[in-house]
Amino acid sequence: MHAATTPEPHLLATKPQSEAVATAPHPTKPHALLAELARHAAASFEKTADVLRLLGEVDRTDAWSEKAYGSLFSYCLGELNWSEGEAAKKIQAARAARRFPLLLDRVRAGRLHLAGVVLLAAKLTDDNARALIDAACGRSKREIEALLAARFPRPDVAPSIRRLPAPSRTTAAATASLPLSSAAPVVRSAPGPKETSASAPAPTPTPAPAKVDRRADVAPLSAERHKLTVTIGSATRDRLARLAALTSHRSPEARSVEGLLDAALELLEAKLMKERFGVGAKPRKAREPKAATSRETPAKAPRTFPKADRRAVVARDGLQCSHVDRVTGARCGETRWLTLDHVEPWAHGGASVAENGRVLCNAHNQAAARRSLGEELVRSRVARRRADGGRAGGDGSGGCGDAGAMGHRGATAPWR
Ligand SMILES: [Zn+2]
Repeated sequence: MHAATTPEPHLLATKPQSEAVATAPHPTKPHALLAELARHAAASFEKTADVLRLLGEVDRTDAWSEKAYGSLFSYCLGELNWSEGEAAKKIQAARAARRFPLLLDRVRAGRLHLAGVVLLAAKLTDDNARALIDAACGRSKREIEALLAARFPRPDVAPSIRRLPAPSRTTAAATASLPLSSAAPVVRSAPGPKETSASAPAPTPTPAPAKVDRRADVAPLSAERHKLTVTIGSATRDRLARLAALTSHRSPEARSVEGLLDAALELLEAKLMKERFGVGAKPRKAREPKAATSRETPAKAPRTFPKADRRAVVARDGLQCSHVDRVTGARCGETRWLTLDHVEPWAHGGASVAENGRVLCNAHNQAAARRSLGEELVRSRVARRRADGGRAGGDGSGGCGDAGAMGHRGATAPWR
């Protein structure tokens, strides 16, 4: 490994290229627009590599102490106008890059992002550096977390339920003790992040209102094990306790939180696969096949795909968007917000049969609708559907041709 290079002062005083770019007319064709963005993104990776290299030198030589700051961190905040998080990450990355200059090469090439460098920093050694850095290239932050968890596995965490600050005075008093059955061995009350004792007194509720956190965090512990952190309401907690009681005769694995969660999710998955994709549903009596693009009156033709056709489309396309990039041939990787789209739009007489169906993500469904139905029509129908969803709770019954298969996130039944 070669020694860190000396700083090049001209790199600190770069030409404000962005000004020229900001005033330049922007290309309107999607591919030209994407190409321009990609050029700037590549340039920003090069800039990041330069910043990390120079920051490493400033750190090594204590050059920041020439200024009126007590630390490099304070200097970064006061002089460079970085946020605390940005400064901390870049200093950590710069120090790692001083030890392992290969990091800078990969950042400069646009193969490794700053978040990746920070994740790798704590794990790199002279022995593993090259293999680990190359393995992390081209991966998202989550993928790098999974990679590191697989190579540096951590033990399972004990399941626990602990009370968060209550949102109001009354509920704080009501939830001061958890009515969980003692037969539920894995569900415990813990007053703080550090588990102490199940019989510890409940903490004094803080008056600050707690925000409802609906996110769940899944962090990899090893290749096969993951830590789930989730905030649940009292009703869910009570249901968990009831399920633990109902399964108390089963094996410890089956009645653990993980076992209950897995069993419940399995049931829900089967239910949703049946509802949305017709998988597992009993086949109905055969019906007359229709032409894929029949010109039947739309008012008479059903807009919803029958379950057998949903099954056939999913069996063919899989649970992944089927849109293919015409230039690279790459298939869209989206597996969420999937819709069943009419290839020949339903509004134009396209039939709701497997041969005329395809799995598209919401974005590509909308793009297809814009192409076939027109920008204005799609925009108005999306707005109407959103308004309907807001009033009716989004039952997805509003009809809007192939645009009916889209809609805003979570408020529509897209398989229509
Ligand atoms: Zn897609």
